[in-house]
Amino acid sequence: VVLVFRTIDLLKTSRTKSNNQKVTHQKEETIKIGFSLGTLKEERWLKDRDILMAKVKELGADIMVLNANNDDQDQIEQVKYLLDQDIDVLILVPNDLRRASTAVELAKRQGVKVISYDRLVLNSNVDLYISFDNEKVGELMGQYILSKMPSGNILVVNGATSDNNTKHIKEGYDKILGQKIEDGSIRVVAEEWASNWMKEHAFKVTDEVLQLGKQIDGVIAGNDGLADGIIEALAQYRLAGQTIVVGQDADLAACQRIVEGTQLMTVYKPIEKLAEAAARMAIQLAKGDELTNIKNTINDGAYDVPYYVLEPIAVDKNNMEATVIRDGFHRIDEVYRNLP
Ligand code: BGC
Repeated sequence: VVLVFRTIDLLKTSRTKSNNQKVTHQKEETIKIGFSLGTLKEERWLKDRDILMAKVKELGADIMVLNANNDDQDQIEQVKYLLDQDIDVLILVPNDLRRASTAVELAKRQGVKVISYDRLVLNSNVDLYISFDNEKVGELMGQYILSKMPSGNILVVNGATSDNNTKHIKEGYDKILGQKIEDGSIRVVAEEWASNWMKEHAFKVTDEVLQLGKQIDGVIAGNDGLADGIIEALAQYRLAGQTIVVGQDADLAACQRIVEGTQLMTVYKPIEKLAEAAARMAIQLAKGDELTNIKNTINDGAYDVPYYVLEPIAVDKNNMEATVIRDGFHRIDEVYRNLP
C-alpha cells in the first residue's frame, strides 16, 4: 500500500453501527473521505488529487488519498485499507471498470457510500457517478476532425478497454463520423486500443501504419498522452503539423503543441468543477443528506445510477486563451513557451 497523502485526524472516533449501516454523522466528528485513484500517470489526476484534497479540507473534513498505479488488485487492497480507517465515503476512480465492483461491494457492506469519480464502475449501483460527458468528448473529437477534413484517412487510437470512458468516447465520435465512414468518404486505416492508456502503444501503432506507407490525414487519440506518442511517430516521418491530431485533457504539453501547431485540438475538462462537486457531494452523502440537483442517471449494466454530468470543451489555438488560460488551468507563459 502506497500512502500518497494522509491528512486525517488520528484520534479514533466513536461511532455506533447498527445493521451494518453507519449512523448519520454526529456533528462533532470529523468526516473522513477516502479517495482511491486508479492511476496518477496523466497530469490531470494530480489536479484531481490536489483540488479534491483542498476542497475537502476547506469544507472541514479529512481526506486520505491512495493511488493504485494501474493495478486492479492493489486498488482493492487500498480500498480495504481505507475502509479499515473508518472512512465515511469512498471516492473511487476505478482502474478496471468491472473488477473495481469488488471494492464497491466491500464499501457497501460497511455502510460506506461510494462515488464513482470520472470513470464508471459497472454493475455496482454506486451512490453517484460524477464525470464529464464522455460521449460528448467523442462527439467534439469527431466534429473537429470533420470540420478540418470532410474526407480522407483516419487512424484511431482509443484508450484502455478497461476504462468505461473509452466506450463512451467511441460512441460519441462514431455518432458523428459513422455516416461518413459508411459512405466511404472517411476511411479508418487502423483502430487500436491502448492498454493502460500507454503512449508507447500509440507511438508503435502510428509508426507501424506509416511504415506500411499508408497515408494518415487525421488521428483521433483517446487522450493527450496518446496524442503525444502519435505525434512523436508522425515527427519521424516529418508529418507532425501536417496530420490533424485531436486528443483530450488539455495537458500542458498538448496545449503547447496546439499553439505550436503539431496538435490541432484537445478536449478540455475543467477539473476544478469536477473535484469541487465531488467534495461537496461526498460530504452531503457522509451526513446522510439527499443529493439535490442530480438530473440524470446512467446505466451501469445492471442499475441506473445518479449521474452528475459536466460539459467538456473543445480547445484549439483560437480559444486557448479564452478557456484554459482564463480559467488558470495553465499559465500563459507556460503554454506559449517558445513564442515571442
Ligand atoms: C479520463 C481521461 C484520462 C484517462 C487516462 C480517462 O478515464 O477520463 O481524462 O486521460 O482516463 O488516465
